[in-house]
Amino acid sequence: MTEDCSPKPGYIALYESGELARRAAAFKKRLALCDICPRTCTVNRLEGQKGFCNSAFLPIVSSVVAHFGEEPVLSGISGSGTIFFGNCNLRCAFCQNYQISQNPQAQQKNEMSISALAQKMLYIQDGLNCHNINLVSPSHFVPQIVMALLEAVPEGLHLPLVFNSGGYDSLETLQALDGIISIYLPDIKYSSDENSLKYSMVRDYVRHSRAAIQEMYRQVGNLVTDDEGIAVSGMIVRHLILPNEIAGSKETLIWLTEELSPSVTISIMSQYYPSNRAGNIPELSRSINPGEYEEIVKLADKLGMENGWIQEMESKEYYLPDFTSGDKPFNA
Ligand code: SF4
Repeated sequence: MTEDCSPKPGYIALYESGELARRAAAFKKRLALCDICPRTCTVNRLEGQKGFCNSAFLPIVSSVVAHFGEEPVLSGISGSGTIFFGNCNLRCAFCQNYQISQNPQAQQKNEMSISALAQKMLYIQDGLNCHNINLVSPSHFVPQIVMALLEAVPEGLHLPLVFNSGGYDSLETLQALDGIISIYLPDIKYSSDENSLKYSMVRDYVRHSRAAIQEMYRQVGNLVTDDEGIAVSGMIVRHLILPNEIAGSKETLIWLTEELSPSVTISIMSQYYPSNRAGNIPELSRSINPGEYEEIVKLADKLGMENGWIQEMESKEYYLPDFTSGDKPFNA
């Protein structure tokens, strides 16, 4: 997994060749009949219309912070430079970031210009000195991210981009990100559309998330780190174990090993806590128990999954951010 190299992110060469500008223009055009994510709402976001993600043209940035609680290859010693985008194309009943993902009226004040987003990227690099730009919930703002890159690259941006999504991403959108994103960090939330509809209001999650993850893996492959153990490229798939087998963890691990590779890097998370509306849903209203956890840990071992992290059951608190506490959502 370790290589003694820190290649320049691909977006720099794409900028120099003019390809980044072409892709930004094509992305912007698609916002006029928005099909940026699999919802294909076909609203005109350039004229202020909003689809399922409640987001018009301007990017919404809820928080920018150096995050030290991501996987070690991302946080390193200087932190992962997280840009939390407001709103979302999912509606997870248990979302830990619900304050910013499911509260569109409150998020309106966090709209910013494309230039301001570019400056946030540069601030993460030159002000916070982070290892990467970690785009959290970026799926509905991909065009704006690419447009901001166009402004940030000539000002010296050179950090790798991390695409940290819920996994509900469009194949066409991902294909147009080929060479721009260095590290994909998708969730794989469910192996049943019945559950994805019931708990995240999305009826075709399994098909789209699996196609998305296959495309991400095709683009960047296995995780590569530099000689200091910091990720420079590759994919890390995150999977949150839910109580009562709601996430379909076993099917997901088997799919990953059979359809991708046992060497795919996985981050299995045990931090589930019934936040947001989950406390009112009986089957989601508790943490996972040791039996549920052990079963998945053993299966990952049996399947020969050789790369990644399995979160200890005790390490839950840090991951419950409070976005009402300014720029320190993880220290509340
Ligand atoms: S990005 Fe938003 S408006 Fe566009 S298709 Fe997805 S949910 Fe609909």
